[in-house]
Amino acid sequence: MPTTAPLARTAAEAHLYMDLHPCDCGEPTFTGPTSIIELGGDDLGSRYEGDCPICGTPREFVFRLPATPSLPTPGTVVYGDGTPSELLDPGEWLWVADRYAGSVPADASALDEAARTQVRTRMSAAIAAMSEVLAFIPADADEVPAEAIRSEVGLAMYEEDPGRFDRDRLEVVRDTYQQLIVPA
Ligand SMILES: [Zn+2]
Repeated sequence: MPTTAPLARTAAEAHLYMDLHPCDCGEPTFTGPTSIIELGGDDLGSRYEGDCPICGTPREFVFRLPATPSLPTPGTVVYGDGTPSELLDPGEWLWVADRYAGSVPADASALDEAARTQVRTRMSAAIAAMSEVLAFIPADADEVPAEAIRSEVGLAMYEEDPGRFDRDRLEVVRDTYQQLIVPA
């Protein structure tokens, strides 16, 4: 078993990572067993495995589990614990935040209860993803260090507008999303 498996601080983070790394055929989902495995040392890992439902290719992801697992809070999305992610870079987190925030209608007041719940969940995910971008900024810095961004998606986000990775702008966007959360 690999002992270098990347840390997934929450199951939500692991699932997001898998969504961003689809099968070669393009299909992101697969169904199969999830198991807790020993990685060596004191580390435990989670293994997700199954066959792609479209092309049949076997898929497998192994993540290291945190020493102290956090339990999910119902109704809110939490990806991490305030530390920089090992799975997604800051540019990917910003891309994820954009996707979630862009998937909700501007005016949710006319929606039924189920749709409003979905809006709340998506905005909660957008806010959590913004917090993950901010987690990469060192305490004495005002922006995400450029070298933290390594992925193709992340680099494209950065090249498009590096100013979006400034602490001030990230906080303003996160606060704006917070205000857009539909009251329960
Ligand atoms: Zn496939």
